[in-house]
Amino acid sequence: MLVSLIVPCFNEQEVLPLFYHEVSAVFAGMEYEYELIFVNDGSRDGTLDILKKLAKEDSRVVYLSFSRNFGKEAAMYAGFCNAHGDYVAVIDADLQDPPALLPKMLNILESGEYDSVATRRVSREGEPPIRSFFARQFYRLINRISDADIVDGARDFRLMKKEMVDVIVSMGEANRFSKGIFGWIGFRTCWLPYENVERAAGETKWSFWKLFQYAVDGIINFSQFPLSVASWFGMFMTFLSFFFLVLIVVRRLIFGDPVAGWASTVCIILFCSSLQLFCLGIMGQYIAKTYVEAKQRPHFIIAETNGSDVIKVK
Ligand code: UDP
Ligand code: MG
Repeated sequence: MLVSLIVPCFNEQEVLPLFYHEVSAVFAGMEYEYELIFVNDGSRDGTLDILKKLAKEDSRVVYLSFSRNFGKEAAMYAGFCNAHGDYVAVIDADLQDPPALLPKMLNILESGEYDSVATRRVSREGEPPIRSFFARQFYRLINRISDADIVDGARDFRLMKKEMVDVIVSMGEANRFSKGIFGWIGFRTCWLPYENVERAAGETKWSFWKLFQYAVDGIINFSQFPLSVASWFGMFMTFLSFFFLVLIVVRRLIFGDPVAGWASTVCIILFCSSLQLFCLGIMGQYIAKTYVEAKQRPHFIIAETNGSDVIKVK
């Protein structure tokens, strides 16, 4: 049995040696063959040099080095496309996904009851409270309005059977939101809870704004609900307007035409035009996504690698 570990790395020079050491130690205690697929996502520090050095010392290390930063989603996709294992796992380089959980995860898959083992954090220690708050609201919202089943605190850290990975590779959408994709494809998933671990070294690549955009992307990729909000708004306003139209005509016929109501007119114009802009904006989001999908640009471009038969552009 071969296990592939996919490790997205973006400026992780501080933590990579630690990570490599820990993963090697975990596998030393098991009987599995394994490959370490490091995806260098356009790092601007010494990450690539470290990877090259590791690859020289250890034939199990494969590095795929992108031509620029394509984001973690693209890095994971490149890993999935180039993984050979019967079992495939995605794991962060910063040791926030404890490699020590791997033996347990492998055991669960071996028992044959599940197709994948996913992990979720049950605590959010070491995270700003405001971030935790928005994260929780995001999970509540997306689970209400989409059919992707996304568990609160779910990490990308999960171990899957080859069959599942093949399905994921076949889903070539450009707007990737893996947490949603994992849930959407189904299969039998076992959830492993664990306490949050702070990253071992280096710093997080996610600003609050980046996370917010990621959340909006997730919603738009997996739900048409915002679009129906726009049409419900529109319908409601149309009824309301018709009612007022009748009211105003009748009032004009009964009471004549005293000039008044400038303020209310301005309010109505402002309200309606901003509502229209808001709804147009929602539509714009979907059109933009469609545009990106229609171009069918590759998800990633690998400029350098030590692997043979690597899919370099997809
Ligand atoms: N990462 C990446 N490309 C990016 C941003 C992050 O490959 O553009 C990798 C990063 O090297 C790490 C993982 O994704 O292995 C998670 O990133 P990070 O630890 O910064 O996120 P957090 O754990 O704070 O959510
Ligand atoms: Mg992290």
